[in-house]
Amino acid sequence: MSYERLEKCPVCGKTDFRNKLVVEDKSVSQESFAIVQCTACGFQFTNPRPDAASIGRYYESDEYVSHNSAAAGLINQAYKIARFFTMRRKVALLNKVARKGKILDYGCGTGHFLAACKANGWQVQGVEPSPRARAEATKRVGKPIEADNLGAFEPSSFDAITLWHVLEHVHDLNDTLRQLIGLLKPDGTLIIAVPNVDSPDAQHYRQDWAAYDVPRHLYHFSPKTLTQLLKKHKMQVQETLPMMLDAYYVSMLSEKNRAERGEGLLTVLRTGYHSNAQAARRDGNYSSLTYVAKRK
Ligand SMILES: [Zn+2]
Repeated sequence: MSYERLEKCPVCGKTDFRNKLVVEDKSVSQESFAIVQCTACGFQFTNPRPDAASIGRYYESDEYVSHNSAAAGLINQAYKIARFFTMRRKVALLNKVARKGKILDYGCGTGHFLAACKANGWQVQGVEPSPRARAEATKRVGKPIEADNLGAFEPSSFDAITLWHVLEHVHDLNDTLRQLIGLLKPDGTLIIAVPNVDSPDAQHYRQDWAAYDVPRHLYHFSPKTLTQLLKKHKMQVQETLPMMLDAYYVSMLSEKNRAERGEGLLTVLRTGYHSNAQAARRDGNYSSLTYVAKRK
């Protein structure tokens, strides 16, 4: 078991951080982790964090549903219902912002999105490090899924690359982005969905906000910091789209985290609704956001 401490901000490279929050991993290890914020650019990240060789055991939970679609329980049922709706929306979004052709889903989990793309006429490829999820995705998609080797793909060959709630898990953030962008055609589209640390539900739940999900989430992006990171990689954010169901899902998990429980379902619905309504009224800071980016 070993931890590593980032000395430089992965977004801007500066070295001065302030402690922002201490968050407990309530779903697997019960360990606490510090989230720090770069004083120069405002980027928030888990620091120190388990290194890449040690992070595996923090995913070892039968509840970790995106790696195991047979997982049971109410929250997982809700997740599956939400998945049904979001999958259709994701494919519709993809068709709107990218030219149909080859797609790479990086961190494809159990392969539901890729299967939906394939059914919609896309040529699909996937990468998934978790062996269990990869085996399931291979079966669902009907072709081999890469474990993590981006060198296996032809440079400048993809019309679209998607990372649905994946970038916040990636240890080598800049190197991975660089490699992925190298796989995009010159006019290819990069689609990145991540939780939004500036959302009303993040502010409401604070250290209990489920989308902190330490130490699995290594970074806690806001529209400002993700845009800055992509800009560094010569990518320009063209559109930012809300993922409305996430406010409910994250609120449901967050209520579970709180010491004093709320009133169950009603509280969840109210918090999720308020988060979306506030984001719509004010500044577009939804619980999770999907960023559509292209080369500058
Ligand atoms: Zn910074």
